[in-house]
Amino acid sequence: MVIDGHCHAGQGDLLTAPWNTDAPLHAYLRRARAAGIDRTVVFPAFHSDYAVANDALAPIVARHARRLIGFAFVHCARDAGRIDEMIDRAVRRHGFRGVKVHGHDGMPTREVCEAVRRFGIPLLVDVVGRAYVIDMLAGAYPDVDFIVPHLGSFADDWRAQQAVVDQLVRHPRVYADSSGVRRFDYLVEVVRRAGARKLIFGSDGPYLHPGVELQKIRLLGMKPGDEAAVLGGNMLRLLRSRRLPQARCVSLSAH
Ligand SMILES: [Zn+2]
Repeated sequence: MVIDGHCHAGQGDLLTAPWNTDAPLHAYLRRARAAGIDRTVVFPAFHSDYAVANDALAPIVARHARRLIGFAFVHCARDAGRIDEMIDRAVRRHGFRGVKVHGHDGMPTREVCEAVRRFGIPLLVDVVGRAYVIDMLAGAYPDVDFIVPHLGSFADDWRAQQAVVDQLVRHPRVYADSSGVRRFDYLVEVVRRAGARKLIFGSDGPYLHPGVELQKIRLLGMKPGDEAAVLGGNMLRLLRSRRLPQARCVSLSAH
């Protein structure tokens, strides 16, 4: 099974850039099907209220239940104090399977790390070139699965990407996604040094073409088992570690 581990869906409300205005899926879904992508992880576009954006994503995921897997988006500063509640709602009510945090909004806090740990779901965190944050996160939460999109930098910060390759080697539960990575040899380095189990195929659809991004993985020329891991097996393993706690704790962040 081929899983695209990184795609946006729904409308943003900020209207200053493509990624905070609209993430329409029509062309994406057609392109992904043509490319042989079976399932896709989707999270909202940038938004001024992620509780609203997550609720808006839920019917989109439900409409394409066989193809889409929802991740909740939270803003670690603005949503402080309600993150556990937001993730609880996203997991239980919407059936979402992970959480996305973007460094432009705010880096992950203990509140979000403890919430994803409680549910056993992965945290996809765009570190916007600040690779050093990954050492803090993985050190403090060695039992949480962190997915670092764009190998640490959508903006082609090769210094950050070099650092992330090294972190993938050192931290057993830190993974990278391949979306938008332009310098192909860094992907080669990930597989050679950290192993195929640490790389997750992602497209950054609908903004980037999923077929183009998928072809990058094929061009790595891995053994079939390794390629299958990158194209879906690794993400599937992280999604299967989900736990559903019986009852909500009162407040994990209060002590
Ligand atoms: Zn993205």
